[in-house]
Amino acid sequence: MSKTVRGSCLCGAVSYAAERISDIVECHCAMCRKAAGGHAGFFFVAMRNEVSWEGEGKLTHYESSPGLIRSFCSRCGTAMTGANLKEPDDTIILSANALEGDVPARVIAQEFCASKATWFAGHDEAPEFDGPYPGWETLKP
Ligand SMILES: [Zn+2]
Ligand SMILES: [Zn+2]
Repeated sequence: MSKTVRGSCLCGAVSYAAERISDIVECHCAMCRKAAGGHAGFFFVAMRNEVSWEGEGKLTHYESSPGLIRSFCSRCGTAMTGANLKEPDDTIILSANALEGDVPARVIAQEFCASKATWFAGHDEAPEFDGPYPGWETLKP
């Protein structure tokens, strides 16, 4: 049994497979929140030579900070990487949001917590539903 970890975008055009991955860091900075489309970005590190891509040509690359590149599916917008060095080293930061199934990694740290989304505060008290939120049809501003 291979322990290869896989991640894919929403539309399936782009996917990665990594032989080994680090644990996961949750980043609350505003750039990661926007790039990930959530209250935070979640990222891990893999060795570049242990990562294989399918549909890599469908990635769009955006230099979000000087010298740092984020890569998204050009079709569906799923963030597939974190902010990687434009001049790559031997590691790559990949987006945990794209992971499939259970993985041998957990969130071990949260960074840029001073930038946390205010709307996420108190989230732990929000009621949970196994299916859709039953209040959608009556939800109004
Ligand atoms: Zn896609
Ligand atoms: Zn960040």
